[in-house]
Amino acid sequence: PQPVLAVVGRPNVGKSTLVNRILGRREAVVQDIPGVTRDRVAYDALWNGRKFTVVDTGGWEPDATGLQAAVAAQAELAMSASDAVLLVVDATVGATATDDAVARVLRRSDRPVLVAANKVDSERAMAEVHQLWSLGLGEPMPVSGLHGRGSGDLLDAVLAAL
Ligand code: GDP
Ligand code: MG
Repeated sequence: PQPVLAVVGRPNVGKSTLVNRILGRREAVVQDIPGVTRDRVAYDALWNGRKFTVVDTGGWEPDATGLQAAVAAQAELAMSASDAVLLVVDATVGATATDDAVARVLRRSDRPVLVAANKVDSERAMAEVHQLWSLGLGEPMPVSGLHGRGSGDLLDAVLAAL
């Protein structure tokens, strides 16, 4: 069976956009309205000749109570059902309480965890990336799921972790 990468993070950080970038096609549903992605969806991906499975997560209602608990539970599930986890954070917003809650769960993971500092569309946005060291999960990797900036380096790191 091929290795599994789970993509987790709070709604609207760009998980599905990044998954589409990883796939090189538009299969994961991207929406301005948080909570559009179904609970967990698995896709076949290929990078540098290696096949792996990418699991996009989501599925929370925009007005759901207990968002932090729901996202943390999703991260817990992703951790147990994958070989590596990619935590996606919106670098233009910085680490929110929900991001911290997910990071707390992931720090207990015995699997590799990578942090994608997403929405770094320009060199200027790089300035905010270092703040995401606060998540305690190592070096945040700047990426723009929308424009593709940094996605090659991120995928190389993902493959090295899987
Ligand atoms: P998800 O809820 O985490 O799956 O987030 P989506 O992939 O659905 O994206 C949420 C919103 O963020 C959409 O409006 C995307 O177009 C936008 N978005 C995603 N990635 C980027 C990015 O790299 N840069 C910018 N500027 N916007 C992005
Ligand atoms: Mg989504």
